[in-house]
Amino acid sequence: MTSAVAQTAKAFTITHCRHCGGQELTWATSIVNRSDVQQGRLTTRDVECMFYLGCDTCSETLAMFSADRLADVVNARMVEPRAAAEAQQEAACQGIPGTSFQRLNALANQGE
Ligand SMILES: [Zn+2]
Repeated sequence: MTSAVAQTAKAFTITHCRHCGGQELTWATSIVNRSDVQQGRLTTRDVECMFYLGCDTCSETLAMFSADRLADVVNARMVEPRAAAEAQQEAACQGIPGTSFQRLNALANQGE
């Protein structure tokens, strides 16, 4: 994981509020104006979706990042199962040569 992804992912390990110690935490979204454009004249390129983790007890904001950064975290987590599945498929091909069902399937999938 890149450091930016790791830093964002750290937010998912928060278990309690640093202000009041409460454990009732909720993720929510907010559309924020990142430009100098006034309300009523905004277009979609002037606003950004932010994810934030708030304390249900005292309303403290515990973590906040953009939708793009959340997507980076989700994409990084998708890579791990994919790599494991590919490694498993390679292992099936490297077994004892013969006619195991998995080996035949693997060879068929490779078009051999
Ligand atoms: Zn709190």
